[in-house]
Amino acid sequence: MDETKIKTRVVGVDISGERTTYAIVDIRGNIIAEGFFDTTDYENVNAFVVALTDKIVELVEANGGYESIRSIGISAPSASSVAGGIVNAANLPWKGVIPLAALVRDRLGLAVAISNDAHVSALGEKAYGSAHGMKDFIIVNIGMGLGSCFFTNGSEHRGHLGFGGEFGHTCVVPENGRQCGCGQTGCLETYVAGKGVVITAKEVMAENPDKTTLMSSLEKLSARTIAECCNKGDELAIEVYRRTGKMLGIGLANYASIVDPEAIILTGGISHAGHWLIDPMRESFEAHVFHNIRGKVKILPSILDDRIRDVLGASALAWNVPEYSLFK
Ligand SMILES: [Zn+2]
Repeated sequence: MDETKIKTRVVGVDISGERTTYAIVDIRGNIIAEGFFDTTDYENVNAFVVALTDKIVELVEANGGYESIRSIGISAPSASSVAGGIVNAANLPWKGVIPLAALVRDRLGLAVAISNDAHVSALGEKAYGSAHGMKDFIIVNIGMGLGSCFFTNGSEHRGHLGFGGEFGHTCVVPENGRQCGCGQTGCLETYVAGKGVVITAKEVMAENPDKTTLMSSLEKLSARTIAECCNKGDELAIEVYRRTGKMLGIGLANYASIVDPEAIILTGGISHAGHWLIDPMRESFEAHVFHNIRGKVKILPSILDDRIRDVLGASALAWNVPEYSLFK
């Protein structure tokens, strides 16, 4: 066999509500070259696809050429591997059903695999991160949204339509709940993901008009800046994360009682709030989880950098898809 024809690289693409990252990754998981741009610059999905594919071609041509690339893996919120695209994303500028895998494949002539960000994170965690060697685990990603994926007996649970693990859209407040981007109200995501933490901060401040808080003088109220106030000992900011952790702990307890995982791995921006979130979450988790697994489920932070994990996970996805050919 002619060894020059063996393709040893793939391209991993991670699309989030804020930023799109793309990288050439080799068969051992080394990132050869990467680039990124703002997802929000493209309100029209066709313009986004043109920009993404042009940037991939540019990166590939400058780093080893087209012949070395086997396939493409894409991670995106609300993506379904069964549908081959993004379906009614709550946190992206493009609405409706977007056949992203086919759009990218048609422009590049390479096989494209797509899956949602939580599933791809789990693939990255299993291949290179905290879940390495585990067979039963849950990954929860808390950033702008709340995603999750679980593996049972070594296999990813995808579900009938490819949407298994939509933990963020489980209902936790059935009456007068917060409005969610998915169209429902009272979803867990609206209480524990980025915007939810900010809403909770506003509620806590409104309930305590007589108390001073560093949060009131912040230029931008965000999950990260509120966590910084906690580090400075701000009582109301600590209360924000106490409520967030309590709500998340209940959600995770319900989840773990169904799945019985060895570990729950936390990824994403909000998990960086550290013990301000983890301590109340753990307490509420143990109070509500099924008694026979109480005290036995590990709750671990991811050891991988968020950005790298998703690109590596997308590359792992790319290796799973058959190579594209016009002649097969
Ligand atoms: Zn929802």
